[in-house]
Amino acid sequence: MVTNKKDIRALSKQQLRDFFIKQGDKSFRGNQVYEWLWQKAAHSFEDMTNISKETRQMLEDHFVINHIEVDSMQRSSDGTIKNAVRLHDGLIVESVLIPTPTRTTACVSSQVGCSLDCKFCATARLKRMRNLNPDEIYDQVVAIDNESRHYYNRPLSNIVFMGMGEPLMNYNNVIKAIDKITSPEGLGMSPRRITLSTSGIPKMIKKMADDGVKFNLAVSLHAATDQVRTSIMPFNDTFPLEDLRESLEYWYAKTKRKISYEYVIWKGINDSEADIQAFVKFCKYVPCKVNIIEYNPIGDVHFQQASPKILERYLTVLEQNNIVVNVRRSRGKDIDAACGQLANKS
Ligand code: SAH
Repeated sequence: MVTNKKDIRALSKQQLRDFFIKQGDKSFRGNQVYEWLWQKAAHSFEDMTNISKETRQMLEDHFVINHIEVDSMQRSSDGTIKNAVRLHDGLIVESVLIPTPTRTTACVSSQVGCSLDCKFCATARLKRMRNLNPDEIYDQVVAIDNESRHYYNRPLSNIVFMGMGEPLMNYNNVIKAIDKITSPEGLGMSPRRITLSTSGIPKMIKKMADDGVKFNLAVSLHAATDQVRTSIMPFNDTFPLEDLRESLEYWYAKTKRKISYEYVIWKGINDSEADIQAFVKFCKYVPCKVNIIEYNPIGDVHFQQASPKILERYLTVLEQNNIVVNVRRSRGKDIDAACGQLANKS
């Protein structure tokens, strides 16, 4: 529905307070409504039970709450849950809840589709693209927190920005969402439990360091030579590894926080001894840990998971060089909820 009314959650707390003063009410009313909008994640003005009926109607006349709706929910045999989330303009993004014995992690989207063109990723094939607003990112987290409480009897413990989109191409909105997620006036989560994953936009990595962000950084590296990386992640031509390296050194100098590298090993692409040595060399530039991710096929014959022998070789060489490495098994594969599979297929 097209409306000229303003999205009330685009207003800061101060703007909301000012609005009430202009209406001849008390600024305190702004605090109350703000609490409803964020901490209590109200879907409608009607929900705001400690606000008078007249005031609720007045809000209704001026604003909308562009709340997301969980359009469909699928549960994997491994307990992973995938939400297809409908935005106010009808577009759909996906978010995922990943339970383990010790934590539940929300994997959230930052864009509809993606601005990048990684050859191995299903999201890159989606055409339509817009940035998500801070509230649309926040709502995904609230929806997953509710599901976590409902299905697993515990609140959400971690968040990864590893859903659809490149978070650093929507930096301002992602930061605003994280501010709300970590604020006591929002969900009050610790930023240490949040990881932003990027394909590696050097300028923005430096900006994050300058901004003093407190969350963790993961970089989807996948290859440590420009030739290989550009062939599978074409934007690497614009942001080559030397620039990425420099930005990561800058990040570490400022934050003193380790970086995680995400890495998939494909047959014939990055499975040679030279690829392994280049990766190890890259890992030594800045303190880091490595997550080797299982490849989730997206129907392209050029990309096939390398053999277990190659994986072993990677692990051996990394460990010989004292680099911490984890192998991440895929979750939610049966419902297309695993890394790189988010493409609105449900
Ligand atoms: N654009 C950001 C956020 C997406 S995160 C980024 O690139 O980091 C999604 C993660 O899944 C990235 O590490 C991505 O490289 C990886 N990925 C994409 N397609 C995949 C696939 N088919 N199988 C396994 N991992 C994949």
